Amino acid sequence: MNEIEQTIRELQLYVDVRWGDSNDMFNLALTTLREKAEREREKAKGCEYCLTGKHFMSDGEPIYIFENQIVAQSYNESDNVAEINFCPMCGKRLEVEHGN
Ligand SMILES: [Zn+2]
Repeated sequence: MNEIEQTIRELQLYVDVRWGDSNDMFNLALTTLREKAEREREKAKGCEYCLTGKHFMSDGEPIYIFENQIVAQSYNESDNVAEINFCPMCGKRLEVEHGN
């Protein structure tokens, strides 16, 4: 359970005990937090571009994500590679774990 889910749980308990589901402000806060939690879950999942390296649409040579890098492949020269922290398509964090 992450920080948002923990907050939702605690706030829901508080609302239930204190107001019995009748406080619009807290119910709105809970709805907003649930939507945020859902977006976070979607981001954590990843997409076909960052999980499988599906090629981005390109007229020429392939562009794809490998680990935390975006690679523009070149048939004639060396590939262009740039480190990225997030998938540009779904927003998943791509930082590679170092050490441990
Ligand atoms: Zn992605």
